Amino acid sequence: MKLYFDAERHLKHNDGNLQKRIFDDKRLTNPKHVFALVYSTIKYKDHIEHVIKKSRIQRDLKIKISDALLALLVHDLLFSSRGRIESGKHPIKDAVLAHKTRLQAEFIKLKLKHKVKSVEQLPTKENDDETPVRWFRINTVKIDPERFNQKHKFFSKLQPVNRFQELTQPGLIYQDDHIPNLFGIHPKEKLSQTEAYKLGEVIIQDRASCFPAHILNHNKEHIKIIDACAAPGNKTSHAASYLPQDENAVVYAVERDEKRVKILRTMSERALGKNKKKLIQVLHNDFTKTNPQDFADITGLIVDPSCSGSGIFGRASDEEENNDQRLEKLASFQVVIMKHALSFPSASKVVYSTCSIHAEENERVVIDLLSDRQVQSQGWKLATRDEVLPSWERRGIESEFVALSRDPEICKQLAGGCVRSNPKEDGGIGFFAACFVRKKNDGAEDCEDENEKDDEDGDGDEWSGFD
Ligand code: SAM
Repeated sequence: MKLYFDAERHLKHNDGNLQKRIFDDKRLTNPKHVFALVYSTIKYKDHIEHVIKKSRIQRDLKIKISDALLALLVHDLLFSSRGRIESGKHPIKDAVLAHKTRLQAEFIKLKLKHKVKSVEQLPTKENDDETPVRWFRINTVKIDPERFNQKHKFFSKLQPVNRFQELTQPGLIYQDDHIPNLFGIHPKEKLSQTEAYKLGEVIIQDRASCFPAHILNHNKEHIKIIDACAAPGNKTSHAASYLPQDENAVVYAVERDEKRVKILRTMSERALGKNKKKLIQVLHNDFTKTNPQDFADITGLIVDPSCSGSGIFGRASDEEENNDQRLEKLASFQVVIMKHALSFPSASKVVYSTCSIHAEENERVVIDLLSDRQVQSQGWKLATRDEVLPSWERRGIESEFVALSRDPEICKQLAGGCVRSNPKEDGGIGFFAACFVRKKNDGAEDCEDENEKDDEDGDGDEWSGFD
């Protein structure tokens, strides 16, 4: 039982760097084994506690055992690959094994509940909540990237790697290939303690969530833009960083929710500093109630509406949260808010995004919009891939666009106007963005001409919907 008593000590006092603490403990004969046990027990802590609680063995144990020790023993019995308590005969071991059948029954129920076959497939804090990479961008509104490295030695000391997958430990840094001034580091890196973070010269923002502002204005062609659903303001401040040098340059950041408006204001002030205050104007308003005619000089919009959030870790498997009805409701709201954005008289580009992985909120919203007569008559198309982060490989789901065209080439082109990011696999949250464009003076007539042009086989039902 020595292994378990040693591990119990460290599990009870789980503060600071666990690995360092265990390997520095001179009393341990096998620190590697103790660390693996404590680490894995912490990883499955919620599940272990659930099994212990449901089996009610604490009530019936013949010997008093601390919660930490019991968790370690249950871990080895059920959650380890060996499936046994690693000790010779001992009254504590016997007391737990007396309830082995009950524990095993609850363990099976747990796996059924999560629809998994093995322990590794169980959701854990580690695999649910943690981003595989901590992404941050240099806030170019506040500091020139050239000056950044000279000023902030913390970052220049990090070792560059070529792929974000190589960020296996602190001390490394990856410069993103797709978004300028965006970097990835190990999530355990103490970024929030750096001076750069405290000064607002770096902003923590998931990589995919940086796509909309980049797609909208990487050419710096839009001087006045609207972020229609702005709080807490990550995309707003990123969009501000793409504004050209122009005294009229502004992001109108619209937010409906009163509490969130406050957060948006604080975030915007922090991101801009005193001198650039005018770059963001916060409007506490329901975007769908704004009058597009009051914003006749707006040429670009970002619409990042409320969504199921299924791309955010830990939420995808929550079936209750994402049932069909809820998705349907969200999708119709997303179409409404997008239609409003597309009705701004001078708008030539609108980027739609969600942190959802569901086609209902993504490609199908795009399809609904492209099929809408009003949207068509306003001249809107889906941008082609070369305008929408062309270097990013994962695009929209082609098969979804069969709803618009039976031509696989057209489906591919439409999907090319969208980008997707898969949670974890692509280094961050699950995300979707699509870009709508129209040329100046595009209207109903142009739209109809396009329809005729695309309907080459004359069957009347092929409409390309892309620019
Ligand atoms: N774009 C934000 C960012 O990157 O920090 C996140 C936006 S969050 C997904 C959606 C936001 O839209 C919420 O703060 C919500 O209150 C707001 N919202 C929802 N409906 C709205 C509406 N009709 N008008 C304005 N804001 C709205």
